[in-house]
Amino acid sequence: MSAAMTEEEVLEVLKRADAVLTGHFQLTSGRHSDTYVQCARVLEDPALTTRLAAALAERVSASGIDLVAAPAVGGIVIGFAVAQALGVRFIFSEREQGVMRFRRGFSVPPGARVLIVEDVVTTGGSVAEVIALVREAGGVPVAVASMIDRGGPKAFDLPLYPLLRLEVDSWEPDACALCSASVPLYSPGSRRL
Ligand code: ZN
Repeated sequence: MSAAMTEEEVLEVLKRADAVLTGHFQLTSGRHSDTYVQCARVLEDPALTTRLAAALAERVSASGIDLVAAPAVGGIVIGFAVAQALGVRFIFSEREQGVMRFRRGFSVPPGARVLIVEDVVTTGGSVAEVIALVREAGGVPVAVASMIDRGGPKAFDLPLYPLLRLEVDSWEPDACALCSASVPLYSPGSRRL
């Protein structure tokens, strides 16, 4: 049986898990928005995570992946699940004084074909840092897989396989009607970790 999911099915899964939030949010870019997708609400359900990961793994299975690498924190759970679906090893990178590194003894075997996995990709800044780390270690970054592509230009040049393309309107803080109306602002991202 195919593990493939349509974008409609993925959106339905996100909505059923209450992962699509409305309110007043500061995105990682610094822009403000009235909509935010909290992937953690899906990733708290192992069965749902396994299903989404199988769909992602199917998209990239022809790419001959040897290793999955993900940036902490957002990419860890879905990255592990995709690695499990592909039957390959999983490592993650994290920031040390602001610099992305592989710690904990994680390594990339020379020549390994690496899939980078992230929960949500907007500009892909963290993903680009992981790609650079993998190259530096002698690995071969092959593709990027994400649960959601929020649209817009990317900071990396590898093919991106998202389960769902979800363009959410955002604007600069000084043009924000929600700020003008003094609606409390939330910063749900994890870039500062
Ligand atoms: Zn605002």
